[in-house]
Amino acid sequence: MVKDRIQYGQSIIEYDLDYSERKTLGIKVHPDKTVQVTAPLNTTEENVREKVVSKAAWILRQQDFFLSFHPLTPPRKYVSGETHLYLGKQYRLKIVETEKESVKLSAGYIIVSLRDKFNIIRVKRLLRSWYKTKADLHFNQLFREKLHLAKSLTKETPMLKYRWMEKRWGSCDRNGTVHLNLELIKAPRVCIEYVIIHEICHLAHLNHSSAFYELLGKLYPNWRETKDRLERLMV
Ligand SMILES: [Zn+2]
Repeated sequence: MVKDRIQYGQSIIEYDLDYSERKTLGIKVHPDKTVQVTAPLNTTEENVREKVVSKAAWILRQQDFFLSFHPLTPPRKYVSGETHLYLGKQYRLKIVETEKESVKLSAGYIIVSLRDKFNIIRVKRLLRSWYKTKADLHFNQLFREKLHLAKSLTKETPMLKYRWMEKRWGSCDRNGTVHLNLELIKAPRVCIEYVIIHEICHLAHLNHSSAFYELLGKLYPNWRETKDRLERLMV
């Protein structure tokens, strides 16, 4: 595999290049925005670059449309004073030593109580399970509020599931189940709503075709603004 890149206007497109016995050149854009090019065996790299340039607008559009989750925040240390997000707001972490474990929100703080405040792994686990509890509440409520949008798209009632994901904010599978990344509980409500509506649109179109975007524009007219907000959030 070769790594190469092309310039297209202001954008640089990097891609992995592989060769195979195929007859035509194929380009795939993955949800993490990486680009995979597979070329016929006798293609020169110059030739490949030309092809990638000719497809550049499409590639950028695909990258733009994927609802990728890029953890841009530095790794957390789980110590007092560090900021953590919840529903789009910054909170300071306060770690308190007590016998009884708990996590509470209070006046701009997320207060984590536990027996040993230097037990970072335990702090992290308590915080994650607190986020999960909050997600149980907010994700289900927002999903219920948006369910009526799915009525005209599918006969089945869509299901909601969520878990921690590495690369995506959400996805929708063929069985009509919407999956959300638990990280979304750190985002403002409107962003969670946007991801839910984006995935609901996939009940009708399991791709990012223009029909998909037409539907999304109808159900959520200012989706671009919210998507940008979501992508800036984790910076
Ligand atoms: Zn999508």
